[in-house]
Amino acid sequence: PTFDAMNFNENLIRGIYSYGFEKPSAIQQRSIRPIVKGRDVIAQAQSGTGKTAMFSISMLQKLDTNIRETQSLVLSPTRELAQQIQKVVLALGDFMNVQCHACIGGTNTGEDMRKLDHGQHIVSGTPGRVIDMINRGSLRTRHIKMLILDEADEMLNLGFKEQIYEVYRHLPPQTQVILVSATLPHEILEITSKFMTDPIRILV
Ligand code: AMP
Repeated sequence: PTFDAMNFNENLIRGIYSYGFEKPSAIQQRSIRPIVKGRDVIAQAQSGTGKTAMFSISMLQKLDTNIRETQSLVLSPTRELAQQIQKVVLALGDFMNVQCHACIGGTNTGEDMRKLDHGQHIVSGTPGRVIDMINRGSLRTRHIKMLILDEADEMLNLGFKEQIYEVYRHLPPQTQVILVSATLPHEILEITSKFMTDPIRILV
């Protein structure tokens, strides 16, 4: 199995190889194809498996850069992780003219609004600031097609449950959902049954 055989956009393939990846990791081999086809996916995976590149490549392959509106939203538990995801998206999308913004607490709100008002294809954020930007009208949700919940169990441990549900209520009804979590406790299964349609479960 190679990245070449996965029929990606040529500029995305360039980005993947220049980032230094040679072949897809196990989770990438099993998850990317169904995600690109539009399936909801529950990936039970820890960090170190290549989960970030898995959903970043999937988002980039599905992105229409001609539309300068947010099309994919990633929620993660910490500011550092949200920024790390932004870096991976920008690196893999280096030849695609992709705009990706990290929407996180502890940064200047006005600056956040200015960047979002300008149009960001992909937003990687923490739940609190994302809700704030949606409520202010700077993060427009109308074109969002994909929601990624990264380290979902950790987000619940940190008390973000209500905020995750609030974000979800703002998204278009057909939004594709990808959930990544090391563990699948009851509260996660509640999210998967409320947000997801006929999800594929992949254990790595
Ligand atoms: P993650 O699971 O997202 O925390 O990623 C773990 C590490 O694996 C990161 O340093 C990635 O850059 C690296 N990685 C992800 N996918 C691949 C791949 N296909 N080939 C080589 N390294 C990879």
